[in-house]
Amino acid sequence: MRTLIYPEWLIDGTGADALGGYALAFGESGRIAAVAPASQVAEAAADSVVRAPGMTLLPGLINMHVHLSLASDNAPFIPYMDAHSDVALGLRAAHSAAASLQAGVTTLRDCGSRGRSVLDLRAARAEGLLHIPRVLAAGHALTISGGHMRPFGGEVDGVDGVCRMVRQLVSNGADFIKMAGSGGGTPGSLTDYPSFSIAEFQAAVETAHGLGRRVTVHCTAAAAIERAVSAGVDSIEHGYFGAPGNFQAYDARLADQLAQQRVSVTPTLQVFRDMAELLPAGAERDFWQSRREILVTNVGRLHAAGVQLTAGSDAGWRFTRFDNYARELEEMASAGLSALEVVHAATGAASQAIGREAEFGTLRPGLSADLVLVDGNLAEDIRHVGSVRRVYVEGELMASPTPSPSGRGQG
Ligand SMILES: [Zn+2]
Repeated sequence: MRTLIYPEWLIDGTGADALGGYALAFGESGRIAAVAPASQVAEAAADSVVRAPGMTLLPGLINMHVHLSLASDNAPFIPYMDAHSDVALGLRAAHSAAASLQAGVTTLRDCGSRGRSVLDLRAARAEGLLHIPRVLAAGHALTISGGHMRPFGGEVDGVDGVCRMVRQLVSNGADFIKMAGSGGGTPGSLTDYPSFSIAEFQAAVETAHGLGRRVTVHCTAAAAIERAVSAGVDSIEHGYFGAPGNFQAYDARLADQLAQQRVSVTPTLQVFRDMAELLPAGAERDFWQSRREILVTNVGRLHAAGVQLTAGSDAGWRFTRFDNYARELEEMASAGLSALEVVHAATGAASQAIGREAEFGTLRPGLSADLVLVDGNLAEDIRHVGSVRRVYVEGELMASPTPSPSGRGQG
């Protein structure tokens, strides 16, 4: 049996303009069979038909940066990790993945967890035990001794150690390699300073690429971006240009280098928005609001410099939830991206950044029927992405949320 969907508008995820009067068909294989003007699609009696006037059809959203095993409750990171077994982390991850469907997310890229907790989640999905989005997992992130994310278990030093850990992660089934290129929110790590040496970055890149895996690097310091890019990494997470004592720094030359070397950046703005909007009024809230404004400005500059941005929210970390991904996409729009550019960053550009563009991320015949229907004309206003009506993963209807009155789903 085929399913035919007739939306009022269709965004194909390639960055192209929205199309009116189109239909999309997919078959029992879970693959898209046709994307064509509705008048050219022959309807058979056995077809299941979805008419969606007033709605936009787009590829399922990709959240490029999540931590499925973290709880979105701003709990102190080290005590949280100490208090939870790997089984508890895995159960949390299953809950987080299911919640993501409500936001139209059909692919999750987990950027760090402990042990096998998220790798096993991915395996449980493959066995049909869980109805959740597609999961790509890094396992634990590589970090220097005392570095950011060390409670995940990835502390490593030296070229030999880095090579060994990359090989072990790939052997355990990691889809990609994640490195902490600077410190971050883990106490004792230094946010404004780079961590690994260039030689260590190069060893990770050479080893991972040799085993068919890409490398992405957490960078909250300009010096970290500089080292990572010169070592040939594939993408950057966060992409903040911090310098010791100066969060506002921005480096136009480095931005040009990112653009020229086609290194994509996932800016993870939602964490700052959530902190600025959910903390009680006071000095801490003001601090996050000021950082939020600096980052939105810098992300606009990266976009203007031609750096390919990809969308990811850092869900799990601090207060950031899995079921309101629209808040990240809205924040990218406030940095100066058009609604179509934001959709591209969360679909086609994201699948390209992880080398999976032949499988999912755009609406083309042969690709996985990962689909989202939202209320309204999304190309005109990114906020419609919060009004999710239907979510298909590999052709299976996995969620049909009823939008809240505001259509935004934030709570
Ligand atoms: Zn993260």
